Amino acid sequence: MKKIAIYGKGGIGKSTTTSNISAALSEKGYKVMQIGCDPKSDSTKTLMHGRKIPTVLDQMKEKGENIELEDLVFEASNGVLCVEAGGPTPGIGCAGRGIITAFEKLEDLGAYEKFKPDIVFYDVLGDVVCGGFAMPIRGGYADKVFIVTSGEMMAMYAASNIVSAINNFGKRGYAKYGGLILNSRNVENEVGLVSKLAEETNGSIISILPRDGIVQQAEDQNRTVIESFPKADMANCYRELAEQVINRL
Ligand code: ATP
Ligand code: MG
Repeated sequence: MKKIAIYGKGGIGKSTTTSNISAALSEKGYKVMQIGCDPKSDSTKTLMHGRKIPTVLDQMKEKGENIELEDLVFEASNGVLCVEAGGPTPGIGCAGRGIITAFEKLEDLGAYEKFKPDIVFYDVLGDVVCGGFAMPIRGGYADKVFIVTSGEMMAMYAASNIVSAINNFGKRGYAKYGGLILNSRNVENEVGLVSKLAEETNGSIISILPRDGIVQQAEDQNRTVIESFPKADMANCYRELAEQVINRL
């Protein structure tokens, strides 16, 4: 089992990209689990065809001691196992703490042993890499971290912070930096800018995803591009990215 964290600035395309990688790998026969680590808990929405699954934190509140794995892990029609960590009510409690609690519960209940995924993806909001948001890097959860960025300054700034966090924790043998995923926003000299960031962070761009309206069209159908438009160029871009991720494990 390999565990991969996908980080990046808010709104950069983490959930879309992760869901399409999950769908592409599932199509190739891998057993994939995707864990959304974002209080919005919408990471797996396209995989679940629009259904917002109950979160680990909500289920813990509702079921208490009687909670079972079936309350937390939901299989999408393409076979991807979907989990949403969930988060606190805005203004009350710490979102990061919620992620830690959710991770501990999944482990307590033996989620990995039971479902035996080949690959686990953590889809993590990376604007702040503190507390629980650093869990996938720090807590021995992820083997590799990939960062989604565009050439926009704030996205690259967040990416650079995430690499710093990996390097700080990395000294103690935790997750390693796998590289950058360039999700294009068609910024002037975008590849040049992100290449420079890759160089500065001792990493590389593992894949360049074009900006393509078909992503939104698939989202409007509550589907990944892989499922809605399997023959589209964009679906092949996601398949190639999935291949790159696997090659780096
Ligand atoms: P959040 O931090 O809020 O969880 P996110 O990083 O997970 O956001 P997404 O929700 O995946 O971001 O994507 C934000 C929007 O950008 C979505 O509407 C998605 O359809 C769109 N998008 C992502 N990638 C592309 C792309 N390559 N081409 C066109 N649209 C895209
Ligand atoms: Mg998201």
